[in-house]
Amino acid sequence: FKNCKKYKGEIKMIVALNNKCNLNKEEFKDYLQNLSSVTTPSQLILCPTYLNLSAVNIQNVKLGSQNVGTNGMGAYTGEVSAEQLKTYNVEYCIIGHSERRQYQKESNEDVHKKIMKLFENEIKPILCIGETLEERQNGQFKEVLKEELLTAIDGLSEEQKNNMIVAYEPVWSIGTGVIPTSQEIEDVFNFIKTILPSTKILYGGSANEENIDTLKQIELIDGYLLGGLSLKIEKLKIFLEKLN
Ligand code: PEP
Repeated sequence: FKNCKKYKGEIKMIVALNNKCNLNKEEFKDYLQNLSSVTTPSQLILCPTYLNLSAVNIQNVKLGSQNVGTNGMGAYTGEVSAEQLKTYNVEYCIIGHSERRQYQKESNEDVHKKIMKLFENEIKPILCIGETLEERQNGQFKEVLKEELLTAIDGLSEEQKNNMIVAYEPVWSIGTGVIPTSQEIEDVFNFIKTILPSTKILYGGSANEENIDTLKQIELIDGYLLGGLSLKIEKLKIFLEKLN
């Protein structure tokens, strides 16, 4: 019963699928065919690479991008703008993923600029925040999370805050098979809610068809951002069945 309100009422679980830099053109065709057979009351948001966005022709997902340029249209070689994404029916965009913060040295200010560009084009940001293992262990992780959040949402209206999604993704949990304890997740979610009381919050980091039994007991979680599992449709189906 505990989870029923999430499915019987208007509140749906959100499950965002981050393909990262995986699946070539042919592989993506097969992937889409498999994904089209997934039925779930959850709202699926598929985030393929830019190149695969226009190939998405299935009805059971909304479309998300994994990134967006900071500058808009113009002489920015290699970038993709929010204006362009909009014309490809992109409704959501992952922003500030830890892999971009780490490899592309994306700053909190970059993340903020991207969020503004997305809102100008009515695309909903999925803002990723999360601490490294070192930051968790030295006890500074809430400061890090606060800085990531406050810089990102600077100047947003209440409406905009409620039109975005936050994904709490501890860096030490992404792709490692390790997830935080339920108490650690609840602690961070409650902390995020002190800053963004009514914004939806996803959990991301090694969520899978096995640990979903534990994760789904956490009432504060509005959904999940899945990396590795997004590529394994059979396991994803088990995950979604258990979630419901
Ligand atoms: C991610 O990178 O957003 C993610 C959650 O990855 P994984 O599920 O593979 O840990």
